[in-house]
Amino acid sequence: MKKALVVANWKSYVGSPKEGLALLKETDKTLPRGLSSKGVVCPPALLFSHLTSVYRGSRISFGTQDISLAPLGAHTGETTAALARACGATHTMVGHAERRATGEASLAVAAKVRLALDTRLTPIVCIGETERDHGAQYLSVIELMLVDSLAKIEPGELKKIVIAYEPVWAIGAPTAPDARVVREAVVYIKKILAQRFDKELGLKATVLYGGAVDAENARNLLVEGQASGFLVGRASTDPKNFAGIIR
Ligand code: PEP
Repeated sequence: MKKALVVANWKSYVGSPKEGLALLKETDKTLPRGLSSKGVVCPPALLFSHLTSVYRGSRISFGTQDISLAPLGAHTGETTAALARACGATHTMVGHAERRATGEASLAVAAKVRLALDTRLTPIVCIGETERDHGAQYLSVIELMLVDSLAKIEPGELKKIVIAYEPVWAIGAPTAPDARVVREAVVYIKKILAQRFDKELGLKATVLYGGAVDAENARNLLVEGQASGFLVGRASTDPKNFAGIIR
C-alpha cells in the first residue's frame, strides 16, 4: 500500500525562530517510529532555511507554502523556486485557498505548477469549492479549478504532482465534514484526472484532503474518505495532535 502523505501547513502561526525550532523538534520527536506515512512540514518562508539547515533527522521533508513566478533577479520581496529548492525544499504548496483569496487565479497556479516541476519540487496543488449547493454545481467548480490549475503539465507528469482537495468552507472550521463528502470529492477528482490526463495515473493519483483534520477524525477520513493523506493547518502546530494524525 502507498504510504499516506501528511503535509503540515504552519501558515503564519509561528512567531519566532525559537518557536519554530521548538515546534520542529517536538514534531520530529513525537512522530511514531517506522512511519506508515510521510511527513512534510511547510514553515513560514522566513524560517525556512533556518529550520532546514539545523534539522538532522530523516522523518520530515520540507516544503514552502508558495513560490513566486519570478525568476532569480530584480524582483523585490519574492520567494523564488530556485532558492526554495537550494534551501532544501522538496515540495511546494501552490494555490492554497488563502493565496487564491488574495486574487491568485488558476492561470497563475498552472504556471507555478510548471515552474515547480521544472525546479524539481513536488507541487501540492490546492483546489476546493467555496460553498456547497443543492444543484451540485460545486462539482463543476472543482473540475474547472483542477483542469485549469494543471493546464501546463504533460499527462505523464501526474505522478509527480499531489492534489490537495480543500473545500474552503472546511478550512479552519470547528469540525471536518463527513467522510462521505471527502470520498465523493476524492473519487470525482481521480475520475477527472483519468478522463482528462491519463487513465491509469489518474486513478492512482495522490489526492489529499484538507480542512479541520485532527488526531480524532484522521483515521475515518483516510479509510472511509479514501484520501491519500492530509494537508493539515492548525492541528499541525500542536505536535501531539500532528503525531496522532500521522499515526
Ligand atoms: C489549510 O488551511 O490548509 C487547512 C487545512 O487548515 P485547517 O487544518 O486549520 O482547517
